[in-house]
Amino acid sequence: MAVRKKVVDLLATAPGEKVLAKGWVRTKRGNKEIAFIALNDGSTINNIQIVVDKASVPADLLAKVTTGACIAVEGDLVESPGSGQAVEIHACSIELLGECDPVRYPLQKKDTSFEYLRTVAHLRPRTNTFGAILRLRSQMAYAIHEYFHSKGFVYLHTPLITAADAEGAGNMFQVTTLPLENLPKDKKGGIDYSRDFFGRRTSLTVSGQLEGELGATALGEIYTFGPTFRAENSNTPRHLAEFWMIEPEMAFYDIKDNMDLAEDFIKSLVKYALQNCYDDVKFLNDRYDPELLGRLQGVIDTAFVRLTYSEGIKILEEAVAAGHHFEEPVSWGMDLQSEHERFLVEQHFGKPVILTDYPKDIKAFYMKQNADGKTVRAMDVLFPKIGEIIGGSEREASFEKLENRINELGMSHRTLEWYLDTRRFGSCPHSGFGLGFERLLLFVTGMQNIRDVIPFPRTPKNAEF
Ligand code: ATP
Ligand code: MN
Repeated sequence: MAVRKKVVDLLATAPGEKVLAKGWVRTKRGNKEIAFIALNDGSTINNIQIVVDKASVPADLLAKVTTGACIAVEGDLVESPGSGQAVEIHACSIELLGECDPVRYPLQKKDTSFEYLRTVAHLRPRTNTFGAILRLRSQMAYAIHEYFHSKGFVYLHTPLITAADAEGAGNMFQVTTLPLENLPKDKKGGIDYSRDFFGRRTSLTVSGQLEGELGATALGEIYTFGPTFRAENSNTPRHLAEFWMIEPEMAFYDIKDNMDLAEDFIKSLVKYALQNCYDDVKFLNDRYDPELLGRLQGVIDTAFVRLTYSEGIKILEEAVAAGHHFEEPVSWGMDLQSEHERFLVEQHFGKPVILTDYPKDIKAFYMKQNADGKTVRAMDVLFPKIGEIIGGSEREASFEKLENRINELGMSHRTLEWYLDTRRFGSCPHSGFGLGFERLLLFVTGMQNIRDVIPFPRTPKNAEF
């Protein structure tokens, strides 16, 4: 018996071999004498065509070779007379590994909308579209590790369970083993967290950055790449409750170095997708989004625009004066919404934008304070179709300024002492940013909804699969 070859390899093999293929049936068609089976094993967007002489295979077996069934096929790899593929398999024998009830199989031709597929998210990887997306996702993860390793960054594993709140916001998932129906109380009547598993109140992390800074101020350049959790009840096409974030953090980088790295990083990743995942990107381009390939190439070829938040606000105000309507009115000090970000990127500049020097009141406590007393050295990278894809900053390196800001915001010192040690002992200028992995994938795949670029999405009221 021949050794099994993956479809991707079979399609690149010269005709003339005896081969063994295994996979799931996409379609079966044919006439009285011959059946044509399109077989896919997930190794590529392309199927291999199996040609079956009906006289050579039992009719009852062939009847069970239906869409979704799993089969093993042995046969001769021959040149394909049909267009669309170089080779096909002339089957000698077919083994049915797993039947698939054609009536109950949830992936039918009749409803292939993304909304429907989310309701059968456990099976949607079997579709061409999700096959392409999930292969791309895997390749991009690999490209990210390769990028940082080639630059000598250390991959730092930061904890998922934390007692700190990196953003100072309240959108965290609490982690507890306390009995919810009978909570232990302290003397003041509050919940007694000393009795909880970790002896204190803990949550799932919203960012690995604070620990990342510990790494950078020891190892120089680090990056994290892991799951991140935010209990934000915003049902948008760009937010997940569980997503993956890449957070590089670099000693001795100022905000300019930080922007240069972010721009180079994201361009390299897009380039990698075009070079290494072309079939999948092309498939998504042709099926859903004819401008996808052009948009990807465009990002590689253009220098990102860099301007300050204040300059951005001025442009938006001018647009309003000229008659443009935004849902959320524009004024200095506001947190930009996706509509504003996309206006700057898509309408005004027509290319990605890096916005810097945001008002301190809408940014996190750890960002480096500018001399004007009003703004901080933040940088957000804004992308077409998406809005914010990266958020980062130069960090405040001065112990005093950082401590003042923590006090000003009324944050708890106690849970941040370890973080303040980075500034107490051998503080250094440093910078970093966070790239939302799924936001990157939205861009690279052209998908509209973030639920469609992660295998098992977690969003409000949805954690089924
Ligand atoms: P947004 O304003 O879009 O909600 P943010 O400013 O809260 O994002 P940051 O705290 O700066 O986000 O996080 C860094 C990056 O993580 C963002 O630029 C984005 O790419 C990604 N990100 C943030 N929140 C989410 C989420 N809920 N789901 C998916 N990705 C996210
Ligand atoms: Mn941000």
